[in-house]
Amino acid sequence: MLDEIDEKISKCIRCGFCLDACPTFRLTGQETLSPRGRIYLVKSWREKTIPFDSDVVNALDTCLGCRACETACPSGVEYGMILEMARAHIEESHLRPSLESFARRQLLATLTNPGRMAASLKAAGLLRPLTRGKLPGFAAKLLSGSSDSALSLPETTGEVRVHNIPAISLSTGETRYRVGILAGCVMRVLFVETNSATVKVLQANGCEVIAPETSGCCGALHLHCGFHADALAKACALLDSFAPVLDSMDAVIVNSAGCGSTLKEYGELLKDDAAYSDLAVKFASKVRDISEWLIEIGITPPTRSLPITVSYHDACHLAHGQKIRQQPRDLLKQIPGLILRDLEEADTCCGSAGVYNITQPEMAKKLLDRKLGYIRATGATVLAAGNPGCLTWIQQGAKETGLELRICHPVELLAESYGLAP
Ligand code: SF4
Ligand code: SF4
Repeated sequence: MLDEIDEKISKCIRCGFCLDACPTFRLTGQETLSPRGRIYLVKSWREKTIPFDSDVVNALDTCLGCRACETACPSGVEYGMILEMARAHIEESHLRPSLESFARRQLLATLTNPGRMAASLKAAGLLRPLTRGKLPGFAAKLLSGSSDSALSLPETTGEVRVHNIPAISLSTGETRYRVGILAGCVMRVLFVETNSATVKVLQANGCEVIAPETSGCCGALHLHCGFHADALAKACALLDSFAPVLDSMDAVIVNSAGCGSTLKEYGELLKDDAAYSDLAVKFASKVRDISEWLIEIGITPPTRSLPITVSYHDACHLAHGQKIRQQPRDLLKQIPGLILRDLEEADTCCGSAGVYNITQPEMAKKLLDRKLGYIRATGATVLAAGNPGCLTWIQQGAKETGLELRICHPVELLAESYGLAP
C-alpha cells in the first residue's frame, strides 16, 4: 500500500488550485490544513525528512475527506485514496493513544450495526435527562479531546428498531428492470422513510427490487477512518450476500452518497484479492445512486403538486466522489408546484463528514453555521440532500438555531408527488 501512496503523491505538482476548494483551508488559512499541505506532509514522511508525529496525525484528522480538492485538481490527484492509505497507516502503526483508537472502533461498531445502534438510541432516550441528548462526556472527550459534544443524538419517537426492506418488491406495472438495493446501516434505523420511498419509486418505474437478506455494512466508514482490514472484511461479506443474485440484476441501487461512493470503488479496493477481485469489479460496475439510476432509465412524470420551496445540498460523496450533481436537481424539477432555489456553496461540506462532527466538533460547527446561513438566505422551507449524515447534522443545526426546515432525501419528495407517501 505504501508504494501506491508514493505513486499517487507523485502526481501532485503543488500548483495550489485545490486550496480555495478546501473548506478547512478556507476556514484557517493554514497550508498544513490544505490538500497540498497534507500531501506534502505525507510526502515528507515517506522521504524520511519528518516523522509521522502528532502534527501529521492532526493534519489528517482535521481533513473532512470531502474530496472537493479532487474536483479542483487539474492533475487528477486521487486525494481521497492518499488520505485513506495515510489514515490506515495511523491505525496499523498505532500512532494514536490506544484508548482513543478503542473509542473510535466502538463508535464505528455502533454506527454500522443496525441492532446495536437501535439499542444505543433506546438507551440514549432513557438517559436523555442526564445527558441532554449528547454523547456522554467521557466518550466525547476520548473521541475529540473535548467533553462538550457538538452532535446531538437523534431524538427518536416511539419504538426504535431495525426496519428491513422486503426481500422482493415487485414492480407495480410492467417489469422493465430487476435491481438490487443496499438497505444500509443508519438507513435501516433512522431513515426508514427514505428506504421505503426508494423502493416505492423504483416499483412505480418498472423495477423489481431485491434486498439480499444478509447484506450488511459496506465498510465505507471504516475505510474513511483508517480501519482498512475491517473495511475489506465488510466489503467481502457484502459481496457474498449479493453474489448469488448479481448476474440477474441490472443495477445495485444506493440512496446514501457515502456508501455509494465506496461501493463504486470496490474494484480498486479488492484488486489484490484473488478470490474477490473479479466479483468486486462486476459489482461496482452495477452500482448506481438512486438519482443517477432514475435519470438513466427515464421516469414516469410525477403528477401530484407539491407547493413547496426546496434547496438542494450536494453531499460531498455524491458531487465530488461520484460526480453526480445534475440528476437529483433534474428529478426535483419534474415535481409539479415545487420551486427549487439555488443554494450558495451547495457543494461545500456541511461538516458532518462521517464521524467528523464527533471527532472534530469545532471545525464541524463552523461549517454547519456557514451552511445554515446559506440555507436561510434561500428562503426554502425544505432542504433535500442524498446522504443521511448531512441530513441529520443540518436538521440538528436548524433546530438549534430556530430555523423552520424540513430535511429529506429527494426520493421522498418524488414518492410524495407520485402519491406513494403522505
Ligand atoms: S492536489 Fe492537485 S490542485 Fe492541489 S496542489 Fe496538488 S496538483 Fe495542484
Ligand atoms: S478532502 Fe476536503 S478537507 Fe480534505 S484536503 Fe480535500 S478539500 Fe480539504
